[in-house]
Amino acid sequence: MISNSVQSQKSYFLSGETKSVSFRKEKLKALKTTLIQREDAIISALKKDFNKPAFESVLSETAVVISEIDMTLKKLSGWAKPERVFPSLLNFPSTDKIYSEPYGTVLIIAPWNYPYQLAMAPLIAAIAAGNTAVLKPSELTPNTSALLNEIVSKVFKPEHVVVIEGGVDVSEELLAQRWDYIFFTGSVNVGKIVAKAAAHHLTPTTLELGGKNPCIIDETAPIALTAKRIVWGKFLNAGQTCIAPDYVLIHHSKKEAFYTALKAEIQKAYSKNPQASHDYARIINAKNFERLNTMLKNENCVIGGITSSEALYISPTIIDEPTLGSEVMKDEIFGPILPVISYTKTSELDAIILSYDKPLSLYVFTKNTAFYKEIIAKYSFGGGVINDTIIHFINHRLPFGGVGNSGIGAYHGKLSFDTFSHQKAIVKKSNWLDLPLRYAPYNNKLSFIKRILKWL
Ligand code: NAD
Repeated sequence: MISNSVQSQKSYFLSGETKSVSFRKEKLKALKTTLIQREDAIISALKKDFNKPAFESVLSETAVVISEIDMTLKKLSGWAKPERVFPSLLNFPSTDKIYSEPYGTVLIIAPWNYPYQLAMAPLIAAIAAGNTAVLKPSELTPNTSALLNEIVSKVFKPEHVVVIEGGVDVSEELLAQRWDYIFFTGSVNVGKIVAKAAAHHLTPTTLELGGKNPCIIDETAPIALTAKRIVWGKFLNAGQTCIAPDYVLIHHSKKEAFYTALKAEIQKAYSKNPQASHDYARIINAKNFERLNTMLKNENCVIGGITSSEALYISPTIIDEPTLGSEVMKDEIFGPILPVISYTKTSELDAIILSYDKPLSLYVFTKNTAFYKEIIAKYSFGGGVINDTIIHFINHRLPFGGVGNSGIGAYHGKLSFDTFSHQKAIVKKSNWLDLPLRYAPYNNKLSFIKRILKWL
């Protein structure tokens, strides 16, 4: 069944219909209309899946997707046009252009944590670039995945875009097919499985993965504002955000003030009992709840640490000074637990930050320009923010992606269109002049060409 779907998409791609820019726009407009009509259903599916607050669903899922479609519709004609570039004088006379051509039939595998936005954003780009696409949403958000399926089958013919729901077995069967491009968002371990499957057919990939994102606070940072921005970035989606701050490294002189400010901010945002707050999401499933719960054992929870396995609830939690060997400092946390480690000298930061793979993001809170510039220059990471968290994601003029273990490739804005396009280089040589220099016999042309090459 899966291989039949892929074959029918490949045949449809070869028919050439998706290569028409007006066809792509028409389809994106139809998609936008349906997504706007179904916004309430999307918000309610996200709520059912993990109690995602409506405000967060609009801010981080539905509004992002609509603005992505709007921006794409506005820019698509320009992006799709062959781009003229300055020719090489060695080819004189010629006209040189880059043609963006769709790869063909692409596979998009999405995670559960922003199950709508992280499925739709790459899909929009794949369609805009003229591909046919199979989308495999996460099995851990069944309500959102079913709705994605319903929406896509209403707007698209299955040979153009189709949603195939399922878990690991379905994902494996999909990965066994020959694709023209694979766009994967998810964990590092599954990213490696995807990369292996892609290598079999030499399929190009984007891998949007995760990591342990440091958040550094020096002695100059304004503590109340810093705490407010970290509470927002960390506890949004109950910490289940790939670019959430994973752990805090704070100058020892500010630690106690930071805890006082965090306590106040958490209470202000989610009340004294966050379990009763409408603005606080749940852990996605029992397996992840258990994984997170284990991190709390034997740790000094200075704030929170309250859990309910029946409700899949973990309160916003701050752990004081865990050791680097502790459970919470081993891998990406991906939940509402924030370990805080103090430092005295900035030279101590290396031993911690460099002991992990390159993270997806890094945050620095400081008034010291030299300090943040040094951090940017010193550590390799996907992207980051000075004096805030997460917000770099929102600017479609910035590339979004990891480096090393946190990912391969980047997208957003025009880069999303480019991600799903092959850039074909074409030189159109003129016939009115044919300089004899490059042709054999070379005889005494060598010294002449050396002189010319110096000027190019
Ligand atoms: P995951 O890797 O478990 O699952 C992602 C997708 O892969 C799902 O659709 C799932 O069905 C599929 N999958 C799972 N196991 C598979 C296997 N063995 N073979 C083939 N396919 C398989 O990730 P997740 O739990 O859904 O998401 C959390 C992770 O994703 C975190 O590590 C987070 O940092 C990362 N993430 C990264 C970004 C980013 O933009 N870089 C965004 C969101 C999440």
